[in-house]
Amino acid sequence: MTAPHHVVVVGSFNVDHVWNCRSLPRRGETLAGRYHTGPGGKGFNQAVAAARAGASTAFLCALGNDDGGRQARTLAESDGIALRVHDSAHATGTAGIYVDEAGNNTIVIGAGANADLGAAWVGRQAPVLAGARLLLAQLESPLDAVLEAMRLARAGGTMTMLNPAPANAECLRELLAAADILTPNETEFTALLECHTSHRVDSDALVATSDAQLHRLCRTLLPRGSVVVTLGAAGAFVSHREDLTRGDAEAFYRVPADRVEPVDTTGAGDAFNGALAASYAAAPERAFALHVRFANRYAAQSTQHVGAASGMPHLAVEIS
Ligand code: ADP
Repeated sequence: MTAPHHVVVVGSFNVDHVWNCRSLPRRGETLAGRYHTGPGGKGFNQAVAAARAGASTAFLCALGNDDGGRQARTLAESDGIALRVHDSAHATGTAGIYVDEAGNNTIVIGAGANADLGAAWVGRQAPVLAGARLLLAQLESPLDAVLEAMRLARAGGTMTMLNPAPANAECLRELLAAADILTPNETEFTALLECHTSHRVDSDALVATSDAQLHRLCRTLLPRGSVVVTLGAAGAFVSHREDLTRGDAEAFYRVPADRVEPVDTTGAGDAFNGALAASYAAAPERAFALHVRFANRYAAQSTQHVGAASGMPHLAVEIS
């Protein structure tokens, strides 16, 4: 019997193909760019972040029988991540990413094997999901598989954390209801509000929205759990249910980001999520604000390196 994993991540693995160009290509335009390739996919990025933040981590994913799939296995092993793989007949997931000089990007994802992650296969992973301290999921995989993972985790007493990324108009009401912690960025938060409530908010205006108003919006979205809205260089806003403040003095508060000169913010959200999961799983009894502070520190450091999964810092959470 192997020891249970503190953090289980269910999600995508992609081989990222990245072109750095002067500007983003327009219709019909051919541009020269600097090319590099590396591991990515929100699920894998977050699993690597959790592992490098010190958590015993398992990653549930679907891979093809090809170079991308073999790359995922080798990389997971080098970071000590326990892989549970659904072997797909399709090619391993890919992403084509153009980045301009200002850091703006356009991305096309070829889901490939990721689309084969099914609820039935996830169902067979019940012992892993129920034995963990925390499950972390995103929306780059089929939603029924994500929902099944969250249901099984909950049934086993495992905390569930949902990073509702990428913004997905389909994001199911049941998925939100199955989340103990929801971690949207500004775009995802406003998309969720639009989809599930009558509130219309401009994502650019969120940083300037009053804390009391943000708290009300978070409570509308997730009446029962905690919401952590990441705000880029402004850090994060946290909203807990009033009677569920886990030792925090306040039901809502902001946690400022570390001040850094970012080199590459790709994957900052994934770094934040993996680190928050690792910190929480290491010491669930600690004040939640301390976990968010660590996640901010970890994510800020991730912006100092180029690359998604490969740019995740080796910075373990310290529990004294
Ligand atoms: P996403 O990458 O999903 O768009 P955010 O931009 O909100 O997510 O960033 C996630 C987290 O990364 C932030 O909450 C913060 O902790 C950190 N971060 C992002 N950009 C910066 C920055 N310029 N300076 C410091 N920390 C940052």
